[in-house]
Amino acid sequence: MVIKSTFVVNAAGIEVDRIAEMVGARNFSIVPLKGTLTDFDEEVGRLISHEVHVLPRIEDMPHVKAVLPNIYGLARSGIYLELTYRSDRVVREEAVNHNIKVAKELFPEIPFERHVVRSFIGFMAYTNADTGWHDFVVDIPDYVPNWVNIVLGPAGVSASPMLGKKVVELLMQSGLRLEPKKGFDPRARKGVQS
Ligand SMILES: Cc1cc2nc3c(=O)[nH]c(=O)nc-3n(C[C@H](O)[C@H](O)[C@H](O)COP(=O)(O)OP(=O)(O)OC[C@H]3O[C@@H](n4cnc5c(N)ncnc54)[C@H](O)[C@@H]3O)c2cc1C
Repeated sequence: MVIKSTFVVNAAGIEVDRIAEMVGARNFSIVPLKGTLTDFDEEVGRLISHEVHVLPRIEDMPHVKAVLPNIYGLARSGIYLELTYRSDRVVREEAVNHNIKVAKELFPEIPFERHVVRSFIGFMAYTNADTGWHDFVVDIPDYVPNWVNIVLGPAGVSASPMLGKKVVELLMQSGLRLEPKKGFDPRARKGVQS
């Protein structure tokens, strides 16, 4: 199948480098970092109203220590982090135990181990394993015009409204003609109810 397009926005997450490679537009490298999170049921969710996040300490590295409520009324803990192959999507017992331990350290009186609903993994794309967290790539490679690569490390969700604006700017600089919709009110959109 052949799909023709004048502009391409490559925002393929952890596959972003493979997609860029297909057209010779890979002007970055990524390191896949796997994170495992664990969710606890509503009974625990009702007890946790705010995020508790331990500042990074050498003895906890590379893991994050945090417990937070999520928008579904559950509580969540983690993050067990590991450098591994991106095909490695297994939820490891060691990771789940780590997340339960973190939760119990922060809230010793809650029997988290009896309230586990699920654990899951996700990948973050580090562009620089040394600097870690906040190096993003949002640009058009010099030698492949009309192609935008978007590589978001952790905090990519929080940064996404600004990044969206940046992508629009890049596309317009490349010649895409866009007209603001008259009367568009972004505040009219329904937000996530918590
Ligand atoms: C453990 C963990 C903790 C995180 N914590 C935070 C946080 O605290 N704050 C925050 O803001 N963000 C956080 N993030 C988000 C994260 O770090 C990323 O920044 C964000 O998810 C990247 O968004 P993205 O749109 O680039 O990629 P993704 O959300 O991965 O989206 C990529 C999309 O491309 C699709 N795709 C891939 N390949 C193809 C293909 N060949 N064809 C068609 N479609 C394809 C995928 O299916 C997917 O829908 C966390 C992520 C993880 C894993």
